[in-house]
Amino acid sequence: MHELSIAKNIIEIVKESVEEKDLSEVDKVVLKIGDLSGVVPASLLFSLEAITNNTELENAGYEVINVPFIVKCNTCGKESNNEAGIVRCTLCGSNDTGIISGNELLVSEIILKN
Ligand SMILES: [Zn+2]
Repeated sequence: MHELSIAKNIIEIVKESVEEKDLSEVDKVVLKIGDLSGVVPASLLFSLEAITNNTELENAGYEVINVPFIVKCNTCGKESNNEAGIVRCTLCGSNDTGIISGNELLVSEIILKN
């Protein structure tokens, strides 16, 4: 399952970022997930909860920030929000575009309890 291996990576990142003694103090992990990443947030959250059950991280919560797929057009210079996977400018139809956002899959923030 795709999301399970991603969940394991996320937990690795949390463990690398937080001192071991503070792992049980993790209140919330903020994740940024782009529309192009192919990740289903609900599946990812399910996997995260499954693999942290009975660990220091079992009480941690997760917040998912969705990042829209946006391309910038090199022909008309405008940015447009596209259906995932289509890099054509929706405004002028040009294919000469660059991806601004939407590929993200990262740990944005780790918040500890006070
Ligand atoms: Zn355009």
